[in-house]
Amino acid sequence: MTETTETPQQPKRVLIVMAHPDDGEFGAGGTIARFTAEGADVYYCLVTDGQVGDSGNETITSEELAHVRQDEARAAARALGVRNEVIFLHYWDSRLEPTLELRHDIARVIRQVRPDVVICQDPTTRWSGQGYINHPDHRAAGEATLAAIMPLAGTRLAMPVESAEGLKTHNVKEIYMTGTQVADRWVDISGYLDAKVAALRAHKSQMGDWDPAEGVTRWAEENGNTARKHGHDIKQAEQFKYIKMGD
Ligand SMILES: [Zn+2]
Repeated sequence: MTETTETPQQPKRVLIVMAHPDDGEFGAGGTIARFTAEGADVYYCLVTDGQVGDSGNETITSEELAHVRQDEARAAARALGVRNEVIFLHYWDSRLEPTLELRHDIARVIRQVRPDVVICQDPTTRWSGQGYINHPDHRAAGEATLAAIMPLAGTRLAMPVESAEGLKTHNVKEIYMTGTQVADRWVDISGYLDAKVAALRAHKSQMGDWDPAEGVTRWAEENGNTARKHGHDIKQAEQFKYIKMGD
């Protein structure tokens, strides 16, 4: 297994593709804050509006919740230093499938944004440890994003209409996958925990009485422990399955 923790190579442009409005912050909030602080141009693409995550609010409708969660997602992105407008694909929460249509919609965003780095969800994680089943939307969003990167975004005749319209092919260089059980890349997020906590707090409808500060620190240190077991001197980390695409 190839493992790497070298300092991220300060990507110029980053696209985050996630199923739900808070997924990016949980999985990669520290890394996103670090990338923006280092000058990257960062874009969010959220596949659903999180329309079913009512977190115990028994009167809110899905339509109302979609607006609440879109606003929370914008606030969370700003807390991480993201200046670009959040892109919403408006698929329905908890009904996501990695369809050709979804692949195509994500590939259009990739061709428009033209990122060096895509951060998405590991589609191979079905469960982990005891008591955790991965949300099927996470797997679907990850699966569709990988298929959007290869072959759709980079292959002219895979999207002939867009190619003819001038939406040129684009090859993503690096992929970071969150929620993975086969991590091989650790990003040092020391100094970015406060930003991650602030971003999670922006998801007020989801937090209830839970304050993310303790959890964020504990997860970062657990990931740091894993990084050190693999020989890397990092105390607080986020971890990813990493792919560097061939030239
Ligand atoms: Zn989620």
